[in-house]
Amino acid sequence: MQTKTNLLGLSRTGLDAFFQSIGEKKFRTKQLMQWVYQRQVVDFDAMTDLSVQLREKLKTTASLAMPIVVHKEFSTDGTRKFVLELDSGNRVEAVFIPEGQRGTLCISTQVGCALDCKFCSTGKQGFFSDLTSAEIVSQVWIAAQSFGVPENIGHKPVTNIVLMGMGEPLLNFGPCIEAIHVMLDDFAYSISKRRLTLSTSGIAPKIRELADHVDVALALSLHAPNDELHDEIVPINKKYPIQEVLDACREYLSRFSARKRVIIEYVLLDGVNDKFEHAHQLVKLLQDFPCKINLIPFNPFPHAPYKRPNGQRIQKFKDVLAQAGFVTTVRTTRGEDIDAACGQLVGQVADKTRRSQDWQAAVWKKMQPSV
Ligand code: SF4
Repeated sequence: MQTKTNLLGLSRTGLDAFFQSIGEKKFRTKQLMQWVYQRQVVDFDAMTDLSVQLREKLKTTASLAMPIVVHKEFSTDGTRKFVLELDSGNRVEAVFIPEGQRGTLCISTQVGCALDCKFCSTGKQGFFSDLTSAEIVSQVWIAAQSFGVPENIGHKPVTNIVLMGMGEPLLNFGPCIEAIHVMLDDFAYSISKRRLTLSTSGIAPKIRELADHVDVALALSLHAPNDELHDEIVPINKKYPIQEVLDACREYLSRFSARKRVIIEYVLLDGVNDKFEHAHQLVKLLQDFPCKINLIPFNPFPHAPYKRPNGQRIQKFKDVLAQAGFVTTVRTTRGEDIDAACGQLVGQVADKTRRSQDWQAAVWKKMQPSV
């Protein structure tokens, strides 16, 4: 039996190649993308500007397959959480966070993660699988669809996308790039490249390579002001130390004249990396680095080895950075009533024996994208 090609998550180039392979012209790509992403139609029969013959051909050669939504919850503060089950039985979550005119969707790129950052329960799970481009894009489709067709509701609910959920996007490079192309495409979600942020823990060579493929906002997880402490909190730092990663980020920025800075994400861990001296070291480290700093007070999860600092400590840390001239924000917690706040999301793998409390609270680094 002929294997069907899943057209969901295929970029314009991928779809052009598909249509060519079935003897169709490239303009079909635009038609299909608009049906799927702008009108939220995934039934070939309902795509009425395609000929009946083409619709029949598509039904035998292609599919528009996406994960099943097994659970969704809407918070009183407008946050929406979606739990998606993949073909493998693994589950990932996406969270939509509204703020004024802005609707930010935080999405996952892997099930589990190999990098084992010490403050992150996803890291404790270990790595299970990469998401496909279709599985990444599906998170956007499902969240957008929960609001209805933009044409009917009069606005685009998802205005910002952050690849900051479970997993390290730069270690699932190809599918992430393909999915980003779909998100940016005018025939699909038409997300502004200023409003699409890829967050990395610092895979230096991949940061450089990224610039060959897409121009998106870059967020860097930097949770300590020196290599010694960063090695401890983010073990990948032993392979790619801070200066090497900052140099890679500088190189990335230099490739795009309009891109002026990187977002530094700094999780504040009580008594570990939130001392006065750390703030001053951070100022010194970043004095010539074009960035804004987003402080993320740690959200504890079961058996977490760290605590969240109190408000006073957070403020003091922020003041040191702000006084040194850094644009500094402190991330606010959203969606607590539906367990959608940072550190409260649940990704599940199919193997029930792995369902320990330890990884029940996948750390999601929701940020306020404000570049
Ligand atoms: S913080 Fe990100 S990169 Fe680090 S273990 Fe968690 S998911 Fe992986």
